[in-house]
Amino acid sequence: MVDTLRSGWLTSGPKTARFEAEFAKYTGAPAALGLHSATAALHTALVACDIGPGDEVISTPMTFAASLNVIEQVGARPVLVDVEEATLNLDPRLVEKAITRKTKAILVVHHAGHPVDLDPIRELCAAHKLTLVEDAAHALPTKYKGKLIGAGENPVAFSFYATKNMTTGEGGMLTGSKELLEKARVISLHGMNRDAWKRYKKEGSWRYDIVLPGFKYNMMDLQAALGLPQLQKLPGFHSRRKEVVRRYNAAFGKSDALETPVELPYAEHAWHLYVLRLRPEALKIGRDQVIEELKARNIGTSVHFIPLHTQSYYREKYGYAPDDFPVAMRVFDRMLSLPLDASLDDRSVDDVIEAVLDVVKTFRR
Ligand SMILES: *Cc1c(COP(=O)(O)O)cnc(C)c1O
Repeated sequence: MVDTLRSGWLTSGPKTARFEAEFAKYTGAPAALGLHSATAALHTALVACDIGPGDEVISTPMTFAASLNVIEQVGARPVLVDVEEATLNLDPRLVEKAITRKTKAILVVHHAGHPVDLDPIRELCAAHKLTLVEDAAHALPTKYKGKLIGAGENPVAFSFYATKNMTTGEGGMLTGSKELLEKARVISLHGMNRDAWKRYKKEGSWRYDIVLPGFKYNMMDLQAALGLPQLQKLPGFHSRRKEVVRRYNAAFGKSDALETPVELPYAEHAWHLYVLRLRPEALKIGRDQVIEELKARNIGTSVHFIPLHTQSYYREKYGYAPDDFPVAMRVFDRMLSLPLDASLDDRSVDDVIEAVLDVVKTFRR
């Protein structure tokens, strides 16, 4: 950071270029583009894939607002389908039924860091000529069938937001084919293309051409200066997350009032979130009250996510009812995310375990 400040080059420059190269090398991506956020990466990706008015994008209600907001921003229509009970990821069997002549893309979200079952979705994309866009805000590092998410040619968006598995404060990365990312780079920075101008004239480097009305989404070297060492630390962060998860699973797996998260055979989980599920039949209180009881025991929790079809904008625009996506709603009603971070020490983990087990014991049916 200090080196960057002293260098006088604060915004996109050599550090961003190095961060992009190292991120691409780490994930096995053909190319990577540093941006201001994952939201910016998703927005840029949709524009780069020519998705706009009249198009439909199939996606999930079990995600953060950003995943669907960008579909609205480009003027396309998000078409929601329900999730799988086990992973809370898009259910491939339901995706097929939602495909119409207007469908242009499928936007999947690797919820909590567990990979989506990509093979059946890739087959649908190939059969119907659709683009697969991945929201990998939670999925670093996530593997699907032994391969890291982000290693393919299709657009994949990563987040370096303050709470994510590695951080630059605010920041994001788009991975994908070289060709796609060249286009995305122009879109992400004013639609400014120096190369396009060079095609016509061979003069000074102050010349540029605006080829489309682009965004201002570029990553700063100040962000990349944080990202470079964070990327080095990522494997260490990930093993600590796995260790915390092992301790939680060992403590909660035995309780008949609790259901621990799964890692399916094809998956290597990033463990961005630890989503614990309650068994309502075993407890006298519901999820909301469990959260209050944990708060009273000094444990902060959250819920990821409030299904988007119940949020005002989406509910009113598309006339959704809560039980239009029954699996998402049913799990939403009984789930909560426990503290999970690489900086959690064993004592803090024990505090969380003790508080959860105490709430369960106190309110057992
Ligand atoms: C955090 C998050 C985003 C947005 O990431 P930013 O980098 O903050 O834009 C998108 N999708 C999901 C699922 C997220 O959790």
